[in-house]
Amino acid sequence: MININDFSFAGKRAIVRVDFNVPLDKSTLAVTDDTRIRGALPTIKKIIGDGGSAILMSHLGRPKKGPEEKFSLKHVIAALSDHLGGKNIKFADDCLKAKDLADSLQHGEILLLENLRFYAEEEGKPRLADDATEEEKKEAKTQLKASQKEFVSTLASYADVYVNDAFGTAHRAHGSTALIADHYDADHKMFGYLINSELQSMDKVLTAPDKPFTAIMGGAKVSDKILVIENLLDKVHNLLIGGGMTYTFVKAMGGKIGSSICEEDKLDLARSILKKAESKGVKVYIPTDAINADKFDADANTGESKTDETPDGWMGLDIGQETIQTYEEVIKNSKTVLWNGPMGVFEMEKFAAGTSAVAQALAKATANGAFTLIGGGDSVAAINKNKLADKVSYVSTGGGAMLEYIEGKELPGIKAIRG
Ligand code: AMP
Repeated sequence: MININDFSFAGKRAIVRVDFNVPLDKSTLAVTDDTRIRGALPTIKKIIGDGGSAILMSHLGRPKKGPEEKFSLKHVIAALSDHLGGKNIKFADDCLKAKDLADSLQHGEILLLENLRFYAEEEGKPRLADDATEEEKKEAKTQLKASQKEFVSTLASYADVYVNDAFGTAHRAHGSTALIADHYDADHKMFGYLINSELQSMDKVLTAPDKPFTAIMGGAKVSDKILVIENLLDKVHNLLIGGGMTYTFVKAMGGKIGSSICEEDKLDLARSILKKAESKGVKVYIPTDAINADKFDADANTGESKTDETPDGWMGLDIGQETIQTYEEVIKNSKTVLWNGPMGVFEMEKFAAGTSAVAQALAKATANGAFTLIGGGDSVAAINKNKLADKVSYVSTGGGAMLEYIEGKELPGIKAIRG
């Protein structure tokens, strides 16, 4: 496998899978958060700086029926150009009809292709009416498989080199994230700088963490995180639980949870996680106190209680002060911290304090020399909201991809290049 640092793009055309799946303003369709565009810049600059040309491809949103204005990648051109000193960005308004534009690219030029997902071939999922028969589904799948091959080889025909720098979609076996790699030999495909740094950060945490290593898992449901938690039990010293999944654990241990969110069918699973953790010597922390609400609403009345004594009719929506203090102490004493998922319903101001406290504690630990890795849309949003993105070690751009990597799964976009 080659490293982008060792490759000269001089005189070469590179097709780069970037992640320009950015949020757009509903009325003006201007980019409202350009984090992902900024993430792709080092790779783009390397290519054009070497004297190569870059053909950028991405998806944006979830178009389900072909081209739609609100999903057009032309809306990112202005933001991308701004970050490149006002550079002219060429645009192909059909990703499959860009051969002439690609062939005519001069050294140092950039061509952006229209949204790949305007074609069902990108994801390889047939777009059928809800009432399609089994027969029709089968037929559509076979047809799509064949046309997906053409789709991918058309994209590959534009360039001499393939670069994947879209970590956010690396867990998808899509045309542009995985299949296209087959058109290039090992000397002509590579990861971009963003994927390289994502992998470096995750591998550091998973294979050689400084100790003690603490994982913080929050979010709504334990079922979404179960595989991650299980894989981490072999690696971490402390596991801090937070968010809605708290209550599945509390109930599993016999506590009273009022009307807090709970996965009744996962009580055995919660008990087995606790047992496994004990047998592996992992200390699991379940929140001991909570901020409760009388309804799931930003204007709800609030109260406090022990998590295992939640009054009837009340639901726990954030961790309480005692838990915050305990968690701050554990984080402070850790040398490696991995955080995924909020501690409470942080979107509502009344229930955001626990998540903010954890974000602050991570920043402090980082200042004291710990390596801190944050991933997952909500924890990243919490870090950004607290303006701490540059005060932690690494903020991952791929929620789902990061979770799958930590679960120990092989990501198709990574395998396609690493082999
Ligand atoms: P996830 O996508 O699994 O990381 O879950 C994130 C969501 O969990 C956020 O939208 C939070 O509002 C929600 N959440 C966090 N804590 C709670 C809680 N105690 N009860 C209900 N939902 C919660």
